Amino acid sequence: MIKIYNTQTRQKEKFQSLELGKIGMYVCGPTVYNYIHIGNARTFISFDVIRRYLEWRGFKVTFVQNITDVDDKIIKKANEEGRTAAEVAEEYTKAFIDDMHKAGVKDPDIRPKATEEIPAMIELVEELIKGGHAYEVEGDVYFSVRSFPEYGKLSGRNIDEMESGHRELRADGQGIEDRKRDPLDFAVWKAAKPGEPSWDSPWGKGRPGWHIECSAMSRKYLGLPFDIHGGGADLVFPHHENEVAQSEAACGCTFANYWIHGGMLQINSEKMSKSLGNFLLLRDVLERTRPEVLRFLMLQTHYRSPLDFSDERLAEAEAGLSRIENTVKNLEWAIENAQDIPSPLQTKPLMKQTKETRNEFIVAMDDDFNTAGALGIVFGFVNELNAQVAGKTVSITDVPCLRQAHAVVVELMSVLGIMMGGAQEVSYPDAVVPLAKELAGYTGANPVQAVEVLLACRMEARKEKNWELADKVRDGMKELGLVIEDTPQGPRVSVE
Ligand code: AMP
Ligand code: ZN
Repeated sequence: MIKIYNTQTRQKEKFQSLELGKIGMYVCGPTVYNYIHIGNARTFISFDVIRRYLEWRGFKVTFVQNITDVDDKIIKKANEEGRTAAEVAEEYTKAFIDDMHKAGVKDPDIRPKATEEIPAMIELVEELIKGGHAYEVEGDVYFSVRSFPEYGKLSGRNIDEMESGHRELRADGQGIEDRKRDPLDFAVWKAAKPGEPSWDSPWGKGRPGWHIECSAMSRKYLGLPFDIHGGGADLVFPHHENEVAQSEAACGCTFANYWIHGGMLQINSEKMSKSLGNFLLLRDVLERTRPEVLRFLMLQTHYRSPLDFSDERLAEAEAGLSRIENTVKNLEWAIENAQDIPSPLQTKPLMKQTKETRNEFIVAMDDDFNTAGALGIVFGFVNELNAQVAGKTVSITDVPCLRQAHAVVVELMSVLGIMMGGAQEVSYPDAVVPLAKELAGYTGANPVQAVEVLLACRMEARKEKNWELADKVRDGMKELGLVIEDTPQGPRVSVE
């Protein structure tokens, strides 16, 4: 059973998806005005691993990540460089996607851009105004924080103790604070200023506020409520708090069931950030480091803890990862060069350990994605394998056992997004049958849930005309002793 630390409840909770076997997940994407630094990359890599793990555990994950391509910082950069905001955003969106590919981060299923989703945002703002949760002042629209009594629940703040944002001055010299009914209110729509990108709206030309973007895009692509919302811990307040307020005020329902926040990457115990100037660009670090090594370094720390980055740690990560890679190579060598000789190995305990390693890895990862623990399990196994195999010629009778050990190391590392030994990308279909088996195990003699997962998956596969997957599921069911028969009333399952 997967447990997730939920920021909203400040405790680890059993994870239960809204729909059996499916997960809707939204992770805030970058504001594209510069290349991303390795702090940003840490957050994206953490969520890449969480997503890979959930997929491997048999969930069909719909992963949505936005691109914030209209924002004060983009406009400022464009003005400084004599370019349009769209040009700046396009350049850095491309660079971001390129960087993510280089870092081995899987593409999201849906990557909406704010500038292409303006109608959904306007619609949401209109709903908020209608519901008495937002109001217009000369082309600006503000969310009325006090209209949402639960404001503060995500970040655990008390509304009466909050300070309003910094005093901003508009072009006409009037303070924004003077225009708002309450200093805590925040903009969901901003009236156009000269030279800024703008869109027509019921309140005149303008552009969306940052927070409304994510509320509108997550709702559009995942529907409300959805399962998991994520981002870096620096987004909890105000960004995510405001998303919750807008979304829940508009729909009258829960926004997201689980909130996951990643800890900050630091240099000399200080948060890496563009504004502090202590940042290392991901692309620069990847010029001198393999992406797997950077990922390995990051996964040695739990995703919620702060992580201090240094060149020493990078060198340690290189050494650690090489140990696992060398073991995989040793196994390959041993398998290829096996001889017809008596076995020098303890294959029975090795087979047992192979199975246990996989199970213990799952236990660690099920516990709020404890990648550090999971890597520790892999290390334990690798040490044992090295002790047994390194520098030895093995018997051909040992080969099946070594193949299995090899497959497990390669598989577990690939779940973390670290490919070696001819690993294939972890994919959802391959994991459906193991998930169903596990569900069948959980429910004892009643594998109803397992059957449901399998049938849902097969139906989806057939809808998408993915016959290969549909057959795979059917065969997997057969393995479980479940025979599927298609009747005019739909599929019927009987126990063999
Ligand atoms: P931004 O483009 O600033 O909105 O940041 C994109 C993502 O990177 C957000 O999820 C931030 O929380 C995250 N982020 C920013 N700085 C750091 C850092 N030093 N460590 C980890 N994540 C960060
Ligand atoms: Zn967001």
